[in-house]
Amino acid sequence: MITISPIPAFNDNYIWRLTRGREHWVVDPGDAKPVVAALGHETLSGILVTHHHFDHTGGISALIDKYNCPVIGPQSIDGVTQPVQGGGNFSILGVEASVVSVPGHTLDHIAYIVRESGKTHLFCGDTLFAAGCGRLFEGSPDQMYQSLGKLTQLPDDTLIYCAHEYTLANLHFAASVEPGNTAILQRQNAAQALRDQQKPTLPSNMQLEKETNPFLRCNQGEVRVQAELHGAAKQSSPVEIFATLRHWKDTF
Ligand SMILES: [Zn+2]
Repeated sequence: MITISPIPAFNDNYIWRLTRGREHWVVDPGDAKPVVAALGHETLSGILVTHHHFDHTGGISALIDKYNCPVIGPQSIDGVTQPVQGGGNFSILGVEASVVSVPGHTLDHIAYIVRESGKTHLFCGDTLFAAGCGRLFEGSPDQMYQSLGKLTQLPDDTLIYCAHEYTLANLHFAASVEPGNTAILQRQNAAQALRDQQKPTLPSNMQLEKETNPFLRCNQGEVRVQAELHGAAKQSSPVEIFATLRHWKDTF
C-alpha cells in the first residue's frame, strides 16, 4: 500500500511524497531542505520530475548528494539519471508507473500516472491545477488543450496531485466564468474550510475537475458566453475558447 502526502515548500508548492514501508520517493523537489526534514532518519529512494522550472528542480542536486538516489524525468533536466518520455513505463515502489507527454506550460512537461489496487494517481506538475491549469510559458494553447484532453481520459476517480496550492484563487476565477455553476460555489466553501485549518485542498479528482474547472469546460454554454464577452469570436472552436480563458486568467 502506497501512501501519498504533501511536503509544503516555498510559498505554495507541494512536493508530493510516495511512501511504501520505509521506501520514499518525491515528485518535483524544488527545495531539498523540507524533504530532508520530512524524511528525518529515513532515506530517499528516488525522485520524479515533471518539468524544468526551478521551483520543481532546485533541490535535486542536494538530494542526490545526500541520498545518491535515481532521478526520473525529462532528459533535458540536470541530474536526471533515467530519462523518460510520453508513452514510457517504469516500476516504482513495486507498482507500474506510466508517463504522459503534456506540453503547454513548458515543452518538456510530462505527467506520471501511478496505478495501485484499482486506484489511479496522477502527478501533473504545473499542467492541471484544482479548478485551473498552468500558464503557457512555452507551448501553444492548442498544445495545452490537447495535453489537458489526454488527462481527462483518465478515470473519473483519478486522484490529482497538483504541484501548487492555487485552488481558492482558481475557484474565484472559475466563479466569474460560470456564475451559475453551483458545484463551483460548493467547492469554494469546501476549499475555504480546509484552508482556514491550514490543510491542503489537494489531491483533487477528475470528476470534480470536470464539474468545476473552466479550462476543462470549453464546450459549456456559459463558459462560451463569458469567453465571447472577453474577446472570443462567435463560433469559436473549443481551443479558441480555451485560449481566451487562459489569456483572461493571466490578467484576472
Ligand atoms: Zn512550472
